[in-house]
Amino acid sequence: MSVLQDLIGALAGGSIEVIDLTAPLSEDTPILQLPPPFANTQRFSRTELSRYDDRGPAWYWNDFTTGEHVGTHFDAPVHWVSGRDGDDVSQVPAGKLIAPAAVLDFADRASADPDFLLEIEHIREWEAANGALPDGGWLLYRTGWDDRSNDSDRFLNVNETGSHTPGISAECARWLAEESTVTGVGVETVGTDAGAAHSFDPTFPCHSFLLGANKYGLTQLQNLARLPATGALLIAAPLPIVRGSGSPSRVLGLVER
Ligand code: MN
Repeated sequence: MSVLQDLIGALAGGSIEVIDLTAPLSEDTPILQLPPPFANTQRFSRTELSRYDDRGPAWYWNDFTTGEHVGTHFDAPVHWVSGRDGDDVSQVPAGKLIAPAAVLDFADRASADPDFLLEIEHIREWEAANGALPDGGWLLYRTGWDDRSNDSDRFLNVNETGSHTPGISAECARWLAEESTVTGVGVETVGTDAGAAHSFDPTFPCHSFLLGANKYGLTQLQNLARLPATGALLIAAPLPIVRGSGSPSRVLGLVER
């Protein structure tokens, strides 16, 4: 039997389960909110064209409008000034969109401290227990934030001192970009950087270092709790928007049962 035939059999037989890691995309999907003077993205919205009526008796369809960075989405290198000479979302090699995933679960820490930051030492501890991060794979950073994704206020967690959502320290982001072999970082929050990352040095270090190294980001993931720490295969499917800085994406995890 070929490897693909084995895979088809395992999917049909249920020994490989497909977990949807994508947040449903609708007008209610929470979006990033930047302070003035910065431009903000539009929410997902749609206009009905016809619904089995005079405008189209046998068919239902809509136009939709959305930002490239709305809902579960993919950050391409050109999204950041540090990656301006890197790939746009249409140029990301298709072979890089199917890759192994390591899941680092810090939901307990983020629950106790919404400003929790992932540090290199946390990754070293995880590697001591689970083995090295996968070559060319994803680091998926679980924080429990997907539980908040139906409530924009709780999801963005803004108070008078700004947004308080977990992220990655500048030192750890630099290490992931320049020293680790991962292809990208996936998170459950509205962006790959912490809520307070505008105050970090450099600002927004995950975007700055990862995208500057021609690596990728995935945001607003769900159901990471249903993946094992190691051994899952991730499929990320951004639209190939020509010159696009990112795209809403369907993201699936394949897990062996
Ligand atoms: Mn983004």
